[in-house]
Amino acid sequence: MRILLVEDDELIGDGIATGLRDEGHAVDWVQDGDAALAALGTHEYAAVVLDLGLPGRNGLEVLRRMRAGGNRTPVMILTARAAVDERVAGLDAGADDYLAKPFALDELGARLRAIARRAAGRAAPVLASGRIELDPAAHAVTVAGKAVTLSAREFSLMQLLMENAGRVLPRERLEQALYGWNEEVESNAVEVHIHHLRRKLGKESIVTVRGVGYTVPRDPA
Ligand code: CA
Repeated sequence: MRILLVEDDELIGDGIATGLRDEGHAVDWVQDGDAALAALGTHEYAAVVLDLGLPGRNGLEVLRRMRAGGNRTPVMILTARAAVDERVAGLDAGADDYLAKPFALDELGARLRAIARRAAGRAAPVLASGRIELDPAAHAVTVAGKAVTLSAREFSLMQLLMENAGRVLPRERLEQALYGWNEEVESNAVEVHIHHLRRKLGKESIVTVRGVGYTVPRDPA
């Protein structure tokens, strides 16, 4: 998932960004409210991790602006442990969930998966297409019941395709979802990942729609 992290504290921000990247997410990290709104105006994110105590425009204002502008990206707010009123205000302003600092990175990862899942309108946490099953929480993929090992990026790419099964996703969209701002991306990076995925999951697992993008078949309901 591509995640926007809004956190002014260097140490906490660095810890969260590193942790989420280790889980295979692409993370764009900004440190104030204006930069957050600018990022949200130019990129599509699977989730936003939003610290409420920011210099200048605070997190609550960012959240209210997002929702007033029709942006429905799932938002996880970060609050001080004692600040119950902050939490309530955040949830009332349209946050999907909150974590009180300090928190464990594992919990942040799990809760982000949960809010992204809810936003995608999926009840079942495991995705399926043909013989392939992908479990975002367990970070596990099987083909006909047999476990397959994917790299973090391959996993993210396959997850995005399976979440959108039956829809064709343009290469640029996949590239944006996989890589943050500061990462060098080879022009054929997505093609290379698709090549590896087909080798591991089967030639028919991902379909190329020439000139448009890639898709995975949707299972009949
Ligand atoms: Ca702060």
